[in-house]
Amino acid sequence: MLNVLFVASEAYPFAKSGGLGDVIGALPKSFPKDVDARVIIPLYSTIPEELKRKIKPICHFHIHMNATLYYCGISTCEYEGITFYFIDNESFFKRPSLYNYFDDGERFLYFCRAVLDSIPSLDFEPDIIHCNDWQTAAIPYLLRHQYRPLFPNTKCVFTIHNIKYQGIYGFSDINQYLHLGFLPSDLEYYGKINLMKGALYSADLVTTVSPTYAQEIKDPYYGEGLDSVIGDVGDHVVGILNGIDESIYTPKDDPALFVPYTTSKKKKAENKKALQDYLDLPIREDVPMISMITRLVEQKGLDLVANVIHEILQLDLQLVVLGTGEANYENLLRSIAYNYPDKMVTIIDFDESLSRKIYAASDLFLMPSKFEPCGLSQMIAMRYGAVPIVRETGGLKDTVSYFDSETNEGNGFSFATYNAHDMLFTIQKAVSLYHNDHTTFNRIVSNAFNSHFDWKRSAQMYLTHYKKLQEAAHHELHT
Ligand code: ADP
Repeated sequence: MLNVLFVASEAYPFAKSGGLGDVIGALPKSFPKDVDARVIIPLYSTIPEELKRKIKPICHFHIHMNATLYYCGISTCEYEGITFYFIDNESFFKRPSLYNYFDDGERFLYFCRAVLDSIPSLDFEPDIIHCNDWQTAAIPYLLRHQYRPLFPNTKCVFTIHNIKYQGIYGFSDINQYLHLGFLPSDLEYYGKINLMKGALYSADLVTTVSPTYAQEIKDPYYGEGLDSVIGDVGDHVVGILNGIDESIYTPKDDPALFVPYTTSKKKKAENKKALQDYLDLPIREDVPMISMITRLVEQKGLDLVANVIHEILQLDLQLVVLGTGEANYENLLRSIAYNYPDKMVTIIDFDESLSRKIYAASDLFLMPSKFEPCGLSQMIAMRYGAVPIVRETGGLKDTVSYFDSETNEGNGFSFATYNAHDMLFTIQKAVSLYHNDHTTFNRIVSNAFNSHFDWKRSAQMYLTHYKKLQEAAHHELHT
């Protein structure tokens, strides 16, 4: 039996703000029976009530950090065969949303320490601690430099879901959680502490979420200042493509949909008409609906959209945007929709149920990201028969291929350069195909439907690496 403890700041269905939540909700379920994968996340007050009722306390204790004592409760529940643990501290996690607080650095450094201090009380000895993104990035460093005696055989994997968010803080602001005598070079970044840098140097294995992104982050354009560190880590950075949980994203019996469907074009069109009605758009089956469901941040290519939005809206299409994020994008998209009431709707909200209705209703899904570590939305879109239009970067490049009319292969449309007119040209092509060549467009829809991004394959790849690390740990123990 191989014991793996996933540590993350989100896990669907308890907490999700983006793809990370989906991944941590799905990957642990996808391993074969000889892997006992468990998950530990903060006990956020935003966890849905019906799930909160299942969560039971195990124990509590206090963590001593500098002169302060911090409460730490541990609770647990089983969900779909996976044991979840939760770290409880109301002053850090009783907040209306998951992130974007002035003390995020302290909140998640507390979480990292609390996780390491909790493990001995869990009745579970991890062979692998698998950490995810900056919120958990202190763990590999602390494990290597401070907690080794407590975990002599435990190996640590660190996965970069997005290298843009690194956890950079002033030394004196967060050192109370790290207990460092001085700022070591493994953590140092322009005089500050960079938690992700520390994780990259300290983890036994670094992975990221697509093969293309694993290559891209060696380049300064994508490396966000850590490209040289990625270069140092070198061959240890492995790209393993994420999947989606096909039992959750299933148009056949997704309770959120207006009309469930398999591959039936007619039933899918009924979803479009119902959504048009719901959103007060003209009810027309013959108009292509393009959607975006996304965080409204620069990464997602919103500059390109803003640049040519009026040209896009000259086309015979409907555009639906669901997202939350930076105020400038929220305001812009809202005001454009206001000026094109027959063509565009912007919904500034995070709404899981509405997102599924939109995936189901859409003919095309736009994701022109500047960079995209993996991207799940394009996979979900394909699962619901919405053809993706993407920029060829990161996981988008690894999952979407341009339709080739010679071979009839390809599941979407794409463009290479981060350029608004290249995107516009690609949208024009897709829309023109929708209106003028039904056979070809339907072929692409069917290729998208049949593109499966199953977690099992990715889980098998993680497992191969875990086993190598476990063997190395045994070897070290006996030499
Ligand atoms: P990222 O993790 O960078 O945000 P991904 O494409 O990997 O992007 O994952 C985004 C996930 O979050 C998808 O499941 C998508 O459907 C969901 N999502 C994004 N924005 C919203 C929103 N406003 N409402 C509901 N779901 C959303």
